[in-house]
Amino acid sequence: MKQLLGYILVAASFSNCFAQTTPVKPCKVGKDAPAFGFWTWGANTSIRIYILKSDFGDDELTYLLKPIENWNAVGIATGSGIKLDYAGTTRTPLYCQNCLTIMRGPVFNKAKRHATELQTYSAHSNQIMTWAHIVIDPVITNPEALINAIAHELGHTFGLIDCYSCKAKSTVMNQFKTVNQPNEMQGPTACDVAQVSAAYKELAIRVRPAPIIVEVDEGEPVDDDTPIVVRKP
Ligand SMILES: [Zn+2]
Repeated sequence: MKQLLGYILVAASFSNCFAQTTPVKPCKVGKDAPAFGFWTWGANTSIRIYILKSDFGDDELTYLLKPIENWNAVGIATGSGIKLDYAGTTRTPLYCQNCLTIMRGPVFNKAKRHATELQTYSAHSNQIMTWAHIVIDPVITNPEALINAIAHELGHTFGLIDCYSCKAKSTVMNQFKTVNQPNEMQGPTACDVAQVSAAYKELAIRVRPAPIIVEVDEGEPVDDDTPIVVRKP
């Protein structure tokens, strides 16, 4: 029986956010709002978040939890019904349903400026994730940059897509300018909230297929933001 393993490679794009949840003007995709339709958690679920114990120091836990709190703060506003619950540390990456493991790994690609990666799997081969791993390259050591990276990756898990053309600080999905440099984005902007809200309104009507682009034989991720599928024997 074959399994599908989807990888979303994420340039923890180097950019900022505000805590407001109501846009003062309509959000325009590509200008100040990211598109949606990517992998996402199922609506109205509690996601258990684990941190790989050996990968992070105790002093780093605070920085990992901050963006989780910020996304939880807009949980009602997005209408997703998703609650991110920090469940503690783990010794190994987890593959349980609605589980997210935050870990480190060698995912840095200088040319593509990738320093983080989101790995995920859909049991039903659609856009709904069964489990996910956020992988942070050891090159990210700056505490603020760590917060920014997690905030961005969490945005992906709510279905948001990178928006490199968006204005700086307009969305948490904007591109980072420099690896390991803070971009002041600690959580979703008002336009991010609006887009996640739209994403879950659509999800209530239809579930998109898994955003699959490429199939390969082994787990060699493609060095761009394209999600790929890895078939296992
Ligand atoms: Zn990204």
